[in-house]
Amino acid sequence: MRDEPSILHLDLDAFFAAVEQRDKPSLRGRPVVVGGLGPRGVVSTASYEARVYGVHSAMSMGEARRRCPQAAFLAPRFAAYREASGIAMDLLRLLSPRVEQLSIDEAYVDLAESGRRPLDRDGVAAVGAEVKRRIHGATGLTASVGAGTSKLIAKIASDLRKPDGLVVVPPGDERDLLRPMQVTRIPGVGKATADRLAGAGVRTIAELERLSSGELTGLLGTAHGGGLYRLARAEDDRIVTPERESKSISVEDTFDRDVTDPAFLRSTSDRMAAKVTERMVHAGLAARTVTVKVRLFDFSTHTRSYTLPAATDEPSVVARIARQLLGEVDTSDGVRLLGVGVAGLVAYGAQPELWLDETTVADATAEETATVPRLSTGADVEHAEHGHGWVVQADAARVVVRFETRATGPGRTLTLRRDDPALTVSSALPA
Ligand SMILES: [Mg+2]
Repeated sequence: MRDEPSILHLDLDAFFAAVEQRDKPSLRGRPVVVGGLGPRGVVSTASYEARVYGVHSAMSMGEARRRCPQAAFLAPRFAAYREASGIAMDLLRLLSPRVEQLSIDEAYVDLAESGRRPLDRDGVAAVGAEVKRRIHGATGLTASVGAGTSKLIAKIASDLRKPDGLVVVPPGDERDLLRPMQVTRIPGVGKATADRLAGAGVRTIAELERLSSGELTGLLGTAHGGGLYRLARAEDDRIVTPERESKSISVEDTFDRDVTDPAFLRSTSDRMAAKVTERMVHAGLAARTVTVKVRLFDFSTHTRSYTLPAATDEPSVVARIARQLLGEVDTSDGVRLLGVGVAGLVAYGAQPELWLDETTVADATAEETATVPRLSTGADVEHAEHGHGWVVQADAARVVVRFETRATGPGRTLTLRRDDPALTVSSALPA
């Protein structure tokens, strides 16, 4: 175990929404919700102003619109997010060669490799404050930083004072910090694990600490139970490893008993598709291939996959394909394990205007390949006379554009004809 709080975790605050508020001055201080705008879209990020109304990531867009109808609902602009993320990550890499990027807006840094000393509480706090200042200066965005003697503690600490937080947990304070927290604060403890623990009367980490190693592995299996036994005691010596690009994302679940109910299998498949898509979107990626893995009662394993002509990040499209693939396997005698995954991952930003809307992709799955560019709400446009703006609303005939950039104040809106020759969808970022 480390004896200095040399592991730093940085998390950009409400990242997608913050980039939108930065680039669209009229939305600063207002509720903003970024996510899929299709009928079954899911929230990727809500601004803090929208969170006040109970809007949060992974919620359905329909629910978000009911809770906060006055919010601006925007399609993601991954090119802008990746640019900001790249700058922040580069600044972290200047600090230390050991940076492990977890997602588009989160990373660990091992300060022991940074050459910075002393790495006591004040020294680490100074490094954290400096990196926050640099990132804000270069991107206009705020980040929250946590630091401690392990990845676990650093990650939990960065979440304690969001947004714009900075928390260094001194060595020796780890277990007192953890004890009152809900078990779900431990990364990797999801709903299924939390439910199982709650069944054993365990809700807080203090209660988790009272279970023996044998009780925990009995409840959760050897790997997960053993891991959790150590994490509950803040025993975490995982090292910071510069990460490889993920080639695929998948989730799978082994059932307590063989499942034969087709409705249950379909709803499980839908839930897994939603989860996989959420992780993919958070990583700034879209997928061309959807895969389903089914292990039957006799332990035979069957995988089916389907590759789309264009990448998608629509949960409903991934869910529909997963259901079709599941339907190709004979599950009537019972399923032990079901998994849904995506592969053929591509970063979505290269052509932010080429959002394939749901009907286009649905047509594509029906072997039609025509794709039509769509003006999503929030997309960047350029007008020969009026300059840079973004789409507030669009239909087949008209588009409402607000003309403003990061550097201007709030701009005015104009209604233009969709076929206005002076209007182009811009892939370049505003200066
Ligand atoms: Mg974040």
